[in-house]
Amino acid sequence: MLHAEGPMLTVDVGERTAERIDIDDVLENTIGGRAAATALAHDRIPFDADPLGPENRAYLSTGPMQMSQMSFTGRMNMTGLSPLTDGLVSTNAGGYLSRNFTGAGLSVLEVTGQSDELLAIHVTDGPDGPEVEFEEVPELEGAEVSRVSGYMDTHHDLGPENCITIGPAGENLVRFASVMTFDNRAFGRGGIGAVLGSKNVKCVTFEGDSSPDIEIPDPPAMDVHREAATSDDLFRRQGTTSATEFINDNFSLPTRYFDDYRFERIENIGGDAVEGKKYKKGACSQCAYACKLPTKDEIRGVETEGPEFETVYSFGTSQGVDDIVDVMISNDLCDELGMDTISAGVTVAAYLKSEDEFGNAELAHETVEKIAHREGIGDSLAEGVDRCHEDLGVDNYTVKGMEFAAHDGRTLHGQGLSYAVANRGADHMYGGMLGLEYAGEVDPEGTLGKAETLAGLENHNVIRDSGIVCAFGGEQGYLTEERVAQLLDADYERLQEVGARTVARERHFNNKRGKDVVDDDLPYEIPDLAEAVQEYYEARGWSEDGTVPDASVNSVAPAGADD
Ligand code: SF4
Repeated sequence: MLHAEGPMLTVDVGERTAERIDIDDVLENTIGGRAAATALAHDRIPFDADPLGPENRAYLSTGPMQMSQMSFTGRMNMTGLSPLTDGLVSTNAGGYLSRNFTGAGLSVLEVTGQSDELLAIHVTDGPDGPEVEFEEVPELEGAEVSRVSGYMDTHHDLGPENCITIGPAGENLVRFASVMTFDNRAFGRGGIGAVLGSKNVKCVTFEGDSSPDIEIPDPPAMDVHREAATSDDLFRRQGTTSATEFINDNFSLPTRYFDDYRFERIENIGGDAVEGKKYKKGACSQCAYACKLPTKDEIRGVETEGPEFETVYSFGTSQGVDDIVDVMISNDLCDELGMDTISAGVTVAAYLKSEDEFGNAELAHETVEKIAHREGIGDSLAEGVDRCHEDLGVDNYTVKGMEFAAHDGRTLHGQGLSYAVANRGADHMYGGMLGLEYAGEVDPEGTLGKAETLAGLENHNVIRDSGIVCAFGGEQGYLTEERVAQLLDADYERLQEVGARTVARERHFNNKRGKDVVDDDLPYEIPDLAEAVQEYYEARGWSEDGTVPDASVNSVAPAGADD
C-alpha cells in the first residue's frame, strides 16, 4: 500500500522545542493524511484534554498523492480535538500548500503546548530533516489573513502558498475559526483555527526542496489528469455552485434558518450568478480540472474566491439574502477573518431569525465582524448555535455541536442518518449518502437498510482524505474506487479496513469524552432513526450504546509520545 513518507515534526510552542519522530509504522498502516493524523491524535492527545488548552495537539498531514503530477491532489488534511464538537475532527483544504509542505521534508506536523507570545513557525528542510525557527510576531496581533501573507512576503519572501494562517477569529477563540492557506482556502470545519489561536500560533510556513521517493502508479495517474484537463463538465465553470438549482428543486436547500426547504429567488445567487462574477480560472496545485471560482464585483469593490455552494446556502438561502454580491462580501469577510463559512453563516442566520431580520445583508456583514472580534452579540454567537441558541430563542440546528451543511436531512433521509452518526457531526463530507440519494440510486425516503452503504462511504472518505485526493474527483466520476485502489497500490478491501479503523479511532476517542448513542441524534424527526442508528452500529461492529470496545482499537503510538 502506498503511503506518505517522512518523519513527523512535533513542535512544542510553549517550550519552543521541536523533535523529529519516525512514524513509519503509522504511515504504513494508515496511508497518511487523515488516517495517520487520527491515529496520532487518538494516541497522543489526552482523552480529557481541553480543546483550547496546551495539551491539545493540532496535526497537519499529507498523503502519498501529494507527490504526484496528477489532478485532484492539491489537498492537505488537518486534525485535532475540536472546540466546537468536543470530539476529534479532520478537515481538508485545497490550494498550493501541499507541495511546499512535502518540500520541507515531513509527513506530519504536530503542534502542541501554548506560547506566551504570538508566534510564526518556519519549517524548512535541513540537512538532517525538517527544521524549525520560531519568530515572535506581536505586530501581527489581530491581523487579517491577507496582511499576514503580506508580512511573510515582505520579511521572508514567502507567498500565501507557503503558509497556514489564522485570522482574528482564531486568536479570539471563535469555536468555528478556520485555518487558512493561500489566503482563501479553508481548513474550515470544527474550529482548528481556535486551537492554533489557543496556542498563540498565528502562522506556520513551509519551504524546501525535499522530494520523497514515492512512485505514483500510471496508469491510471495520467489518464485521470488528461480526462480532468479535457472535460467540459459544467462543474469546471461553476464549481460546487453548478448544482445549486438542482438541490433547490429537490427541496434540500434549507432556507431562512430551516423554516423552508427551498429558496424562491435562487437564480440570483446560484451557479449562473456566481459564474457571472467569475473573472478568471482558479485551481489547486497540479489540478487541471480547475474548478475554483475567483470572482469580483467592481461596483462594490469586492474580490474573493467563491462563494462555493455551501456558502451560497449559509450566507444566502439560510439568511434569506438574494444578492450574489452580498454573499461574496460575506465570503470574503470569513476568509479574511478566518472563519468557517458554513458555521458562521448558519450562526448569523440563527441571529437574523431571532431579530426577525432575514434578508438584511448589511446586518449579516456587521455580525460576521462582531463574531470574529467577539464584540457585543458576537461574543455569544462566537460560541456557535449549540451554545447560544437558548439566548437567541431559536431551535438548535446542530449535531454534536456542529452547524448543518446544506443537503437537507429532512428530505434526504439517508443523509440525515449520516449527519446523526458522523463522529464530527453535521458535516456533509463525512458520509455522503446525499450523492446516491440525489442520483436516485438510493431512495431518499426512509433510513432503514442504508447503514452498510453509509459505513462503506464513510470508509471511502477516509481513504480519500488520507490519499489525499479531492472529493470532486470522485463525485465527478474521475476517481472511481478501482482507480483509487490502483493509485494507492492496494486492494480496495484493505483500504476500506483503513477507513473503518480510522472511524473507530475517532469514535473511541469521543467515547472516552463521554459521547455515545445519545449524541447520535438529529434536532428533527426522520423515519425510524433510532432503529437505523442500531443498524449502523451493527454494520460497524459497535455496541448498542454507540461505543467501541477498548480492545478493538490498537495503539499505534510512536516512540517519543510523552503522554
Ligand atoms: S477539483 Fe477543484 S477543489 Fe479539487 S483539487 Fe481540483 S481545483 Fe482544487
